[in-house]
Amino acid sequence: MKNIGFIGLGIMGKPMAKNLLKAGYSLVVYDIFENPVKELVAAGAKKAASSRDVASQTEIIITMLPNSPEVKEAVLGEGGVIFGVRPGSILVDMSSINPLSSKEISGKLAEKNVIMLDAPVSGGEPKAIEGTLAVMVGGPQEAFNEVKPILEVMGGSVTRVGEIGSGNITKLANQIIVALNIAAMGEAMVLATKAGVEPENVYKAIRGGLAGSAVLDAKMPLVLDGNFKPGFRIELHIKDLMNALDTAKELGTPTFLTSQVMEIMQALKADGKAKDDHGGIVQFYEKLAKIEVRKK
Ligand code: NAD
Repeated sequence: MKNIGFIGLGIMGKPMAKNLLKAGYSLVVYDIFENPVKELVAAGAKKAASSRDVASQTEIIITMLPNSPEVKEAVLGEGGVIFGVRPGSILVDMSSINPLSSKEISGKLAEKNVIMLDAPVSGGEPKAIEGTLAVMVGGPQEAFNEVKPILEVMGGSVTRVGEIGSGNITKLANQIIVALNIAAMGEAMVLATKAGVEPENVYKAIRGGLAGSAVLDAKMPLVLDGNFKPGFRIELHIKDLMNALDTAKELGTPTFLTSQVMEIMQALKADGKAKDDHGGIVQFYEKLAKIEVRKK
């Protein structure tokens, strides 16, 4: 069995790494924060001193970091993967980053004979814990075939969508759909609540119909409890929509609705809510309408 390196043990990376350990893989881990590293070591992983140190001890290196700058830092920066990695290794970046950055990093790794796959995920912390994430992968078929069994430990569905960068293009599409769904839910539920109908009843009545969705089922129970603990932080969703808008500008595709939800998220950030879960988008509508969508 190949040795696996795991860099970035945050909300998502920590449970994903734990699932690899449970499946019997040996893991070398690194994060700039000490606490999650200690937790993984207690679960059986080996601690590395840097990303470079991870790469020098493993053949498959997984990164799960916030955004493009952090992935560039961990892979190409001082003490980064590229300075320790062995030819023939595979880097699987599971972070959600700008697709152009994936291509750029992949190009640099290719000079060292290292293949990169971009493999962002959807499903959030609960599915990371369950090992049922949706994984969307870009990169060469052969490397995909090699790492697929590993990705299947973390994912309920693992799909190759094309060449490098296409995993993150798919993730941008995913994030547009999720953001618009949450905003639609907020707009609709504030209207229903203001009209005097119990929002819990509205949710129960519509969840089995055409308006029902994975988003509604994941976020509405939290909204009804007023629970905006992340989960997926609004600031990370702003990052994804920024990447989506930049990519759309480059391609020349229209993004009217994405731009509007971006403005809502920016308003929430200005209101001190950047670290809330993205289910907290409802608070934008609640504040303006002076009503809260809560369980009685
Ligand atoms: P997080 O901020 O909780 O975790 C990121 C981790 O990376 C932190 O532990 C941080 O210390 C570490 N880190 C940052 N820079 C580093 C560096 N240079 N070297 C080593 N470690 C470093 O973020 P998260 O919620 O786990 O999200 C990770 C990625 O997954 C993001 O791209 C996010 O958009 C995506 N994602 C998140 C969710 C979610 O629900 N949280 C869902 C799907 C996808």
